[in-house]
Amino acid sequence: MEPANTTPPRSDIRLSPVDVPKSSDVLAGELRERILNGELAEGAALPAERELVKQTQMSRATVREALRILEVQNLVRVKPGRAGGAFVQRPTTKSMVNSVTMLIRGQHIKLVDLMETREALEPFCAELAARNRTDEDLAELDRANQAIADPEADLAQFLQANLDWHVGVTMASHNELLMGFMIALSQAIYAGTENAAFIDSEIRAATAKAHRAITAAIRERDDAAAARRMCRHVHSYADELAESGQRDAIVVRELVAHPDTESGCRS
Ligand SMILES: [Zn+2]
Repeated sequence: MEPANTTPPRSDIRLSPVDVPKSSDVLAGELRERILNGELAEGAALPAERELVKQTQMSRATVREALRILEVQNLVRVKPGRAGGAFVQRPTTKSMVNSVTMLIRGQHIKLVDLMETREALEPFCAELAARNRTDEDLAELDRANQAIADPEADLAQFLQANLDWHVGVTMASHNELLMGFMIALSQAIYAGTENAAFIDSEIRAATAKAHRAITAAIRERDDAAAARRMCRHVHSYADELAESGQRDAIVVRELVAHPDTESGCRS
């Protein structure tokens, strides 16, 4: 017979510290999933705070914190007052613009990198725009073309019209991902080059001409020409930036159309 009082051997099992998620993160995660999968529609009101406390059996502080997390992530809009509460907000192009803008600023992304990215993407935007543009898209581009050709426009107005046109081409692509990304990119480039104090009438005329030529290709649904002309229009910018490192010089070259041979664009 074995003796009954033998002590069992000590276990060799080792445990790591257990990471317990915060209850507010868990609740926020659950609500976020329901917003993103469409179960909670845009504009729908979430249950009142009191009701959420009752349903989830979590504390009032936890429920508040969860709603606060969703608000910061722009997934709910909190309205104060008697008819207030938390209302569902699905992510939009604008949320993407904000995220990309924060990334560009927070990571101190260099102008040369912004330019390279634009050089790669914008001809494709023009190609898609030629395929997908609506009459409303064309009206936007025509408006920007008119504004950029206005001889009375000051520098700020000229640069704004330039930005509006580039954003207009991106919108005409009707590709939501490209739209969010390119709008953030265009705004950052605009912010990085707005001191272009010596943009003269010659440069303005060349820019207006390039924009008109690309607009014409988009209007005619000629995707190859739209891509090629856009490539020519934006390509030289990044090269110049890398070479000169001088912002003023760069801005001039960006706005002047370059021949195909220099740009490496498909012809
Ligand atoms: Zn331009």
